[in-house]
Amino acid sequence: MIRACCIGWPVTHVRSPLIHGFWLKRYGIDGAYGREAVEPGGVADFLRSLGDRGLAGCNVTIPHKEAAFAAMDEVDPGAVAVGAVNTVWRDGGRLVGMNSDVVGFLKNLDHQAPGWDREVGNALVLGAGGAARGIVHGLVSRGIPVVTVANRSLSKAEAIAAGHPRAIRAVAWDDLPRLLGDADLLVNTTSLGMVGQPRLDLPLDGLKPSAIVSDIVYVPLETDLLVRAAARGHRTVEGLGMLLHQAVPGFARWFGITPEVTAELHAHLAADIRGH
Ligand code: NAP
Repeated sequence: MIRACCIGWPVTHVRSPLIHGFWLKRYGIDGAYGREAVEPGGVADFLRSLGDRGLAGCNVTIPHKEAAFAAMDEVDPGAVAVGAVNTVWRDGGRLVGMNSDVVGFLKNLDHQAPGWDREVGNALVLGAGGAARGIVHGLVSRGIPVVTVANRSLSKAEAIAAGHPRAIRAVAWDDLPRLLGDADLLVNTTSLGMVGQPRLDLPLDGLKPSAIVSDIVYVPLETDLLVRAAARGHRTVEGLGMLLHQAVPGFARWFGITPEVTAELHAHLAADIRGH
């Protein structure tokens, strides 16, 4: 039996067992995917003992993604851009890690807004946290000519821009109303709009009718931002698809089959999210 898991502290809330469990059943694989609570400080030891524990690899969630990055022998460019790893596998005696949020975000856009990267000249990213770092890297890697990052704490947006001097503009949150009209793609990567967080208080009046609006928050599934954007006729891209697509590379590495993100899988997770 092939085994993998998700490590975090705490780890009870993660939904990845639902995704991988669905695929294991769907593809008839003799495998298991569980949760492992790993205390802060114990990440490197846990990862080095993956083989002894009979694990092919693992996902890594908060607060361990940076410590996991530091413990890797090899990482992909997305992980370097973010400074964090969320997917780990063993290659012989070596530990290899990637940040699958980058590919998850891009694949989800490809799926929900096909052709978006040919149309978007100007992307406006709200937020400059861990998720924003990966998304900005993804947008740059797809050749989007102008990427602007707006964040409440301007210094964090500036820190992201410093890593990509030619392509990124860092702007203050108060500049948003002025900049909204230039955007072909608006992406919310802040936690605003998530259950238990304040709503994203951003009037969309200035947005071009052709602009695509994406929200990576997926609890609730239909955020206030997406509801307001859809009511104005914008193409919208929701965050659950990103969560599903980011799970693909790990499953493929551990269990040997590249799984499909289907409507059935989406419905499976959506039912769980609606139930909470
Ligand atoms: P993070 O590193 O903690 O960053 C949070 C971001 O939200 C920062 O830019 C922060 O601004 C901003 N923010 C928080 N409260 C705010 C407020 N009251 N006003 C203005 N800005 C505020 O979190 P993260 O890991 O990037 O995750 C962000 C969100 O994305 C979460 O809701 C998470 O669930 C979601 N997410 C979804 C996926 C997916 O697969 N769909 C993947 C990753 C993350 P400051 O810098 O000023 O604090």
